[in-house]
Amino acid sequence: MDLGGTKITTAISDLTGDIIEKTTLATGSALGEEVVMGRIFDSIAMVLEASGIHEEEVRAIGIGAPGPLDAEKGMIITTPNLPFKNYNLVKPIENRFGIPAYLDNDANAAAIGEYTFGAGKGTKHMLYMTVSTGVGGGAVLNGRPYRGNTSNALEIGHMTIEPFSKHQCNCGKFGDVESLASGTAIAKRAKEAVEAGKDTLLSQSETLTSYEVHQAYLEGDAVAQEILDTAFEYLGIAVANLIVNFDPEVIVIGGGVTKIGDLFFEKVRESARKRSFDFMFNATRIVPSQLGQETGVIGALALALIESAEK
Ligand SMILES: [Zn+2]
Repeated sequence: MDLGGTKITTAISDLTGDIIEKTTLATGSALGEEVVMGRIFDSIAMVLEASGIHEEEVRAIGIGAPGPLDAEKGMIITTPNLPFKNYNLVKPIENRFGIPAYLDNDANAAAIGEYTFGAGKGTKHMLYMTVSTGVGGGAVLNGRPYRGNTSNALEIGHMTIEPFSKHQCNCGKFGDVESLASGTAIAKRAKEAVEAGKDTLLSQSETLTSYEVHQAYLEGDAVAQEILDTAFEYLGIAVANLIVNFDPEVIVIGGGVTKIGDLFFEKVRESARKRSFDFMFNATRIVPSQLGQETGVIGALALALIESAEK
């Protein structure tokens, strides 16, 4: 189950990750925790019924949800787009269906998904980073998900990389990766440039997202180029910090901003290369996500598989 603020996508698969049935319901976050819990139950019941598979045949349920949360206790602590506060999500599901359930934050689930079925397949030490409206991450080290003490490790978006920055993040801090290089940050810089009256194609755009900034970049717009190149430079700093700290085999990068494609990966690699030890950089592949739009639900399926496997 990919539990999001606007929709709940639940799928049932076989042990190789092939999806048998999938359903999507509106989360109904504004209607409170009981309504959302009811929809969670409904979505599980729906895929069971549609697939003709009985509860007893199901090995585990994996749930990816926005953090921060306590993966060990199966508890959502608090998150802006869901009504749950210090709420144990796992117990009611286990009680209702008699199936072991595992909760993890969506970035960790995506990391496990890429490790099991995607771009991290066959590796031992893999990091995942998502660059979307926010910036997040997860790790699989020695073949096991690494969550840290409070299960919130790899909050890559909230690494401070610019100590004197005036750009503030949703978390309240200044100069962290998310405030400087997320899709939201790129859009903000574009808006600021337009408002400052800079000579740019961006002033003709109705909406300003990283997509429009990329389009203007391709048309040779100097303001757009500076905005994106700066964001890529910062992302490269984050990647270099990951390389020197974790010495991974592969860093998989997904999320909407990576749709920019080769330009994104070339610039981020170049920035990371300048800031890493050569031999470590050369030993690290930096590659796009392979799961794309299905990352959420496939990550949750992979979480169920990896957590219910013998350790
Ligand atoms: Zn932050």
